[in-house]
Amino acid sequence: MIPFRLQKVRTEVDAIAAARAGGRYIAGGTTLVDLMREEVERPERLVDINALPLGGIRTEDDQLVIGALARMSEVAAHPDTLRLQPLIAEALIEGASPQLRNVASIGGNLLQRARCPYLRMLDAPCNKRVPGSGCAAIGGVNVGHAILGASAHCAATHPSDLAVALVALDATVRVRGPAGERSFPVELLFRLPEATPHLEHTLQPAELIIEVRVPHDASARHARYLKVRDRSSYEFALVSVAAALHVEKGVIRTARIAAGGVGTRPWRMRASEQALVGRAPDRASFEEAAQRSLDGARPLSGNGYKAELLPRTMVRALEMTREVV
Ligand SMILES: Cc1cc2nc3c(=O)[nH]c(=O)nc-3n(C[C@H](O)[C@H](O)[C@H](O)COP(=O)(O)OP(=O)(O)OC[C@H]3O[C@@H](n4cnc5c(N)ncnc54)[C@H](O)[C@@H]3O)c2cc1C
Repeated sequence: MIPFRLQKVRTEVDAIAAARAGGRYIAGGTTLVDLMREEVERPERLVDINALPLGGIRTEDDQLVIGALARMSEVAAHPDTLRLQPLIAEALIEGASPQLRNVASIGGNLLQRARCPYLRMLDAPCNKRVPGSGCAAIGGVNVGHAILGASAHCAATHPSDLAVALVALDATVRVRGPAGERSFPVELLFRLPEATPHLEHTLQPAELIIEVRVPHDASARHARYLKVRDRSSYEFALVSVAAALHVEKGVIRTARIAAGGVGTRPWRMRASEQALVGRAPDRASFEEAAQRSLDGARPLSGNGYKAELLPRTMVRALEMTREVV
């Protein structure tokens, strides 16, 4: 591990100033410290933000407001999360392990880095780690990689389960930085790799995530997260689907669907959603909509199975929304 300096800050102003001077925010450290140990990340200065007043979970006009420093386990167990947005609780519980969830923060979860093995293999080319060095996954082992949104430069999937749920729910993120404060949809936090895979998110330098806001609507109660993975815990998704349906008088009025494990960012499934609106919530509608999830999919040599697993997972997730009483 390369030596680094650690600065503890108590105010957002100090945090932003320290990051502007070249520091890197650290919250739970469960992603960043791992990467520093492996020397994939080499920050010279860390800005410990844990003393900032960015924890907690509250409701405002039925919106769930989650502080950037709230811990994954705390958010998953909170009565307001369970009451207003059970999908978020389910997605969080499906991630990592109990020990990690006790330490890992919501802001850090959204900004965790890809789990492509080549990112962590210092002797392999990786455009995320060394821009312009190439992508070992495209012609190499790409079983876990993306079938949506990949470029010739990178095919790593986005790893956060929470982000998939937040994208389906039209959540927004509030950030503060040297130029002030702004809010935007969580979906727009994540970049496609295109020719610059090392740029993973749309935050400006020194911008700090403050909170996430999740609007409530009639589909929230009938929402489920289904994650398919190689083992049942402590493992990232091969394919996951967050689905929420609002059904009235036997007709689907609103459908919200996003998928994980298949895209280079959490993937909103708008074509599938549109195919469901106005239809009956039955197997035939679900299967038709699930086929639309493959619009634009381009499997690599080793991940063709995802083109079959994604629609199947979506059908099952949609069926599960009907099992919620
Ligand atoms: C073995 C293992 C298994 C895992 N499995 C899963 C899984 O199945 N699903 C899943 O979703 N996740 C999984 N994770 C990832 C885990 O959820 C993340 O490591 C964790 O959420 C990151 O949060 P943190 O607070 O520790 O972030 P940190 O490591 O502290 O920070 C991560 C990044 O976010 C930045 N950052 C942190 N907070 C802020 C902020 N407020 N504003 C701006 N930048 C910020 C940091 O600078 C850093 O770049 C796993 C991790 C491990 C180690």
